[in-house]
Amino acid sequence: MTDVKLEGKIALITGASRGIGRAIASSFAENGASLALAARGIEDLQQVAGTLRAKGAVAEAFACDVTVAEQVERLPALVEEKLGGIDILVNNAGAAGSHKFVNHPDGLWELLLEVNLTSVYRMTKAVVPGMIERKYGRIINIASVASKVGLRYMSAYVASKHGVLGLTRALAAEMTDHNITVNAICPGYVDTPMTDFAVSFMVARTGRSETEARKILEDTNPQQRLISPEEVASLAVWLASEDARGTSGQAINIDGGAVMF
Ligand code: NDP
Repeated sequence: MTDVKLEGKIALITGASRGIGRAIASSFAENGASLALAARGIEDLQQVAGTLRAKGAVAEAFACDVTVAEQVERLPALVEEKLGGIDILVNNAGAAGSHKFVNHPDGLWELLLEVNLTSVYRMTKAVVPGMIERKYGRIINIASVASKVGLRYMSAYVASKHGVLGLTRALAAEMTDHNITVNAICPGYVDTPMTDFAVSFMVARTGRSETEARKILEDTNPQQRLISPEEVASLAVWLASEDARGTSGQAINIDGGAVMF
């Protein structure tokens, strides 16, 4: 048997229906965690939960829009009722979008700040009291290399992801007395539906072929490839495990060395 790192732990993963969130759910399941999977689209989530259950995992799907405060606030109690208190929270749900800054649509700014940053604030605020009570917690925020560097035409996304990193560090400092670690993972472009959408957007905007557009994104990584969702999941397993108990307030890049801080 492989080294199972999360036996007996209960993990809530937002945005678990596809891409990075789904890969994290799968790796957490392989490592023995019980899973609460959240996203807006319940059918896709049910499918992910069903696949994991077929492999012997405990997995429950919860419809939750992370931008709707009431849905977020009631989620921990629903999870507790079905699975128990949340030990691990992965704030992964997110959205991307780009626009040049001149005439930047206010709606895009508000949407990305809400989905990528305020949701992390709200979800963590809803989950953390239970962790404090149980004197244990692992919080993992899926940030981005855009948490560390500026990228042209991406002011709202970059601002939201810098905010996630600021919140990660502030919370890590505040949670040290409670045996709760708070860390961020900062990937470069990952091979997920979000990146497929970025490729399609570039094709539509610039008239480049799909291969050319994808190559531009691959070339942002010095290894000239997209990161796989499983690479992100593997780091999430480690951060959630006992092995990482001394690591908090960190923002770990997975980008082939594109950003070196
Ligand atoms: P995907 O678009 O492939 O998946 C996003 C997931 O989030 C889906 O499960 C989606 O489900 C869910 N989601 C989106 N909006 C909401 C919402 N309002 N409420 C609840 N769930 C929501 O994204 P990725 O897997 O690529 O990205 C995951 C995270 O990783 C994001 O935070 C992203 O910013 C970050 N990231 C991604 C990179 C990449 O290159 N792909 C690089 C660096 C960071 P549904 O639509 O059903 O709600």
